[in-house]
Amino acid sequence: MIDIAFPSSTSGALSAVAPRHLFTTRVLPFRGDTAAADWVRVAEALHTPETAIVRVSQVHGRRVLVVTPGTPTVSGAEADAIICTDPSRTVAVRVADCVPILIADRSHRVVAAVHAGWRGSCAGIAGAAIEAIAELGIPPADLVATIGPSMGPCCYQVDDRVRLAFLSMTPDAAEWFSEDGPNHWKLDLWRANADQLIAAGVPAPSVTHMNVCTGDDRERCWSYRRDGAGAGRMVAAIGL
Ligand SMILES: [Zn+2]
Repeated sequence: MIDIAFPSSTSGALSAVAPRHLFTTRVLPFRGDTAAADWVRVAEALHTPETAIVRVSQVHGRRVLVVTPGTPTVSGAEADAIICTDPSRTVAVRVADCVPILIADRSHRVVAAVHAGWRGSCAGIAGAAIEAIAELGIPPADLVATIGPSMGPCCYQVDDRVRLAFLSMTPDAAEWFSEDGPNHWKLDLWRANADQLIAAGVPAPSVTHMNVCTGDDRERCWSYRRDGAGAGRMVAAIGL
């Protein structure tokens, strides 16, 4: 039987620094009528009230929502990263092939959840999240990050349009693509996001890759590309 979440031992340093986190499996589909019940299961697993889980309307951009003690929770806020310094709340993103990234600080001052599809990765959402944390006075060198289940470099085929969008952002992006037939490429979003985290100051050894590809791991993962419109979603959530 598959658990509702991946074993925390696969999250690297995050499991010691922020034990209250999870990456869900396809056991919870977060779809239609049962989505509310799935959120309740996540809340139970994280020992928090369901109403204390902060979610956003994800728009594939680089906007960061900062939640501090006293910040009211605005339902439906548009953002692709949520930073939280409030111990009474938990932050969560939903994905189905896009890259979920959970971040925590070794001194337990901040946690963050990031949703990085190709557009968000191209817009630099992971770096934007680290910059926003640094603005709170927390050094990026103190952070740990885990890159969760998502479509891996083995499966994520894109066309020229995507590659050109990345190259117009940074020439470094060339290293994230490998040729995959005429006008097509395999894009390594895991590395793209890890490189952005590291460029923003997170130490390379503090970035963990779960190396779970949603395209390959049918048993545990939803994949929008594989499952189409019927795909469920997977949640990455973290609290202080
Ligand atoms: Zn794959």
